[in-house]
Amino acid sequence: MKNFVIAIDGFSSCGKSTVAKALAKNLNYVFIDSGAMYRAVTLYVQQNNIDINDNDAITKALDDIHIDFIPNPEKTQILLNGIDVSEEIRTMEVSEYVSEVSAIKAVRTAMVKQQQALGKKRNIVMDGRDIGTTVFPNADLKIFMTASPQVRAERRFAELSAKGEVLTMEEVKENLSHRDHIDSTRAESPLRQADDAIVLDNSELNQEEQLKFVIDLVKQKIEMPQA
Ligand code: C5P
Repeated sequence: MKNFVIAIDGFSSCGKSTVAKALAKNLNYVFIDSGAMYRAVTLYVQQNNIDINDNDAITKALDDIHIDFIPNPEKTQILLNGIDVSEEIRTMEVSEYVSEVSAIKAVRTAMVKQQQALGKKRNIVMDGRDIGTTVFPNADLKIFMTASPQVRAERRFAELSAKGEVLTMEEVKENLSHRDHIDSTRAESPLRQADDAIVLDNSELNQEEQLKFVIDLVKQKIEMPQA
């Protein structure tokens, strides 16, 4: 039987990973956070003092970057050259430059190739910016998530504060709009809604309601694959 691929794209801090994770758990699919891969590349660049503006050096470094996922029921771990960096990639320091690194063509080519390999032969839920448009243009279900900028900033601020990061709401807002701008305007597979994606605006929805929304869509797709 063919594997089922669910693509979830959208702006930064829309709650894509939360929905994707819950959906994967509910369906017993594998969850893959594609943003974590771009974050791991950025972390490597920072750890090795590579100039963020030096595309050639970053492209060269890709040969030395090996990313692995260890799916756990509760939390997927991400390994950078064998070291668990699941927490480190979530800091503001990484968020500040991840969109610049993600815009580099060679970085995207390498990550997309890995993402496509991960999605072969198994049922997956993958979240990101270009999953429904570039990575899996033939995905069985595509969801495009959005939420109001205020709601997104509040969620992100709460998440970072809970981890002990000291920063202001203004800084969080600036980072989100900076990343959205670069992600949506870059030359290589910019963030955009796929023509056949279904929009989920979760500004006013709790997690349970969001999960129900996507599970209903999956059921419809499984019952009526052409719909
Ligand atoms: O999803 P997350 O916010 O962790 O992604 C971090 C960054 O990685 C995004 O702002 C974007 O620049 C990049 N990204 C991307 N393509 C993806 C997933 C993430 O360019 N499929």
